[in-house]
Order: sequence, then structure tokens, then C-alpha cells
Amino acid sequence: MKIVVLPGDGIGPETMAVAVDALQAVSQRFDLGLQLDHDVAGHDSLKRHGATVTPALLEKVLAADGLMLGPMATYDFKDESKGEINPSKFFRKNLDLYANIRPARTYPGMPARLGEFDLVVVRENTEGFYADRNIESGGSEMLITPDVVVSLRRITRQCCERIARSAFELAMTRKKHVTIVHKANVLKIGDGMFIDMCHEVGKEFPEVRVDDVIVDAMMAHVVRAPDRYDVIVTTNMFGDILSDLTAELSGSLGLGGSLNAGRDHAMGQAAHGSAPDIAGKDLANPASQLLSAAMLLTWYGQRKGGAKFLHAGAAIEAAVAATIASGQCTADVGGKLGTRAAGQAVLAHLRAA
Ligand code: ATP
Repeated sequence: MKIVVLPGDGIGPETMAVAVDALQAVSQRFDLGLQLDHDVAGHDSLKRHGATVTPALLEKVLAADGLMLGPMATYDFKDESKGEINPSKFFRKNLDLYANIRPARTYPGMPARLGEFDLVVVRENTEGFYADRNIESGGSEMLITPDVVVSLRRITRQCCERIARSAFELAMTRKKHVTIVHKANVLKIGDGMFIDMCHEVGKEFPEVRVDDVIVDAMMAHVVRAPDRYDVIVTTNMFGDILSDLTAELSGSLGLGGSLNAGRDHAMGQAAHGSAPDIAGKDLANPASQLLSAAMLLTWYGQRKGGAKFLHAGAAIEAAVAATIASGQCTADVGGKLGTRAAGQAVLAHLRAA
């Protein structure tokens, strides 16, 4: 398995270094023969190549079996004509990574403020309100007059259908419960189509219980009783916001592992951003990037039928859980360790098992 590794901005280099060590450790332990190809995206690429991402990098990623992308300083990248392209969008769009899978669960050893839970947000990743990816060329946010902005939202039957399918297939491997999160009371046509397509696809999965919740009410419900949920399927922006909330409810945004998956490609990238407030301070929790790496290995194992990749993904998840249980973790989840030391603790668990 060939994986392109792009550390990204802010805390990215610190957390990606830990994820790379873990990938190398499981490669050795499970005989995966991983080939890691290190390159740059974001600010480093802008300095080196005059663009945050390049066509040559895309070619390399297209030829690889997976991508590990660090967090990106998307807020800094404003003008595509100056090479300031949002790398997250670039790969999601060009690799057609339509399903953003963001699990959130509590861990033994950490106080579960809202009780124990284990859920997954399945977020549509290629259209919706994201102005940088929902039209073929240019952006769909327009300055009509100096005082008027129009931002377009795109919802297509095809994208609703495929994200619904991802959610129901995932639910079949879990507690067989899908919750559709929407705003169909206001976005009657777009979210109406989204709900209809989810129910349509749901007919193929009669064992799966389906319900739906309006997105604003969901903010209360998921805080009140997160254990009510199993798989939550929603459109792009709602999923982006909701999954930050569910990661934080699980203990910290630093636990937010995430996979961006399409038919042929996948990218492991933590759910959070570049966290400039803690960058370079050895404070970031590497768990999110580790769990993203585990998800990428699992995705590959499921596609290729490679049990050893599934074991490797599970081993990383177990090592993260074990370090949290033993308190060998970063401050955001109640520990006293820095990023590097927390990473070493995960590696020790990986090697000892
Ligand atoms: P960006 O502009 O790149 O989105 P941001 O700071 O606005 O960055 P996030 O990076 O998502 O948004 O961070 C939100 C909060 O969560 C910050 O206080 C940040 O320090 C914290 N945070 C994010 N990731 C981690 C992590 N891996 N470990 C610990 N704290 C984190």
C-alpha cells in the first residue's frame, strides 16, 4: 500500500509525525509493506512551488493507494490566482471523496460528562453550501454589489443517494440505526430531496431503523443524550459543524479522527483545523491523526480484502484507547503529556501488544 503523506499547517507537522511513526510500527508488526511518500501541501508548498497544491502532487496522489493529509490553514488561502488553493477542497473534489466519516465515542478512563456514547457522523463532502466545490469552474459565492453577497448551495439526487448508501451500509455494521439530520422545514426543496433519497435508499436496508431530526434541534438532542444515536447522515455544512460538536462531546476535538472516502480513493485527515493557537507548542493531541490513519488502513483492508490491514487499523485504535485509559495522553483529554510523549506512549502500546 502506497500512502502519500502531507503534514499540513499549524499543528499538522507535530501530529503527522506521530501518525507516521504509528504507520511504520504497524507496517512492521503486520507485514503491510507500507510505502510512505512524503511531500508538502499548504504553506510549505506555497513557499516551495508557488501554490498550496500542484498538478504533479495530484498525479502522485491519484497513483497512490491512500493519502494522509494534515490540517490546512484554509483561512489563510484566499486567492486561487496566487496559488492559494484550499488543499482539503482540492483533494475532496479531485478525488471525489464524497463521504466524510467522522466517528465520535467516549473512552474508558476519561470522565464521560454526558454518559457513554459511540456514534458516527456521515457528512456529504462534495457539494452543499461549500462554495469552493459545488460548481465546475470558479466559486459559487458572489459579490453582487459591494454590499450584497450571494452564496449558492447545490444538492443533487446523485450525491444524496450515494451518501445515504454510505450511511446505511455503515449502519449495517453497527447498531442498525440511521438518523437523517436536515433543515427541510426551511430548505424545503434541497433538504426535501435529501430526506427523500435517504428514505429511498433506506428501503434497501429494512433492518435499519430510520428517523430524522431538524439540525437546530439536533444540537440540543445530541448534547442531551448522545447515546441515542448510531449513524447520523447529513449534508456538507451541517455535518462539518455537527461533527466538531460530537468530537468535543466525546472529550476533545483532538479525538476527532476522520476519513474522506470515495469509490476509488481515500484520505485520512483529522476533523479539526490547524489549531494555530497551540501550533509548535507540543500541546496538540495526536489521537485525531492516529485515528484517521487507522481509518485509512481499515478502508484499504475492506476494499482489498486484506485482513492484516484491518488488524493494523484496529491495533492503532486500541493503542489510542489504551493510552487514554492509562492517562498517558495530552492535556485536552486530562493527561500531562505533550504531543511527542503521548505519541511515544501510543507506540509503546503498539509494540508491546
Ligand atoms: P483553523 O483556522 O485551521 O480552522 P481553528 O483554531 O479555527 O483553526 P481548529 O483547529 O479546529 O480551529 O481548533 C479549534 C479549537 O480546538 C482550538 O482551540 C484548538 O486549539 C483545539 N484543537 C484542535 N485540534 C486539536 C488537537 N489535535 N489537540 C488539542 N486541541 C485541539
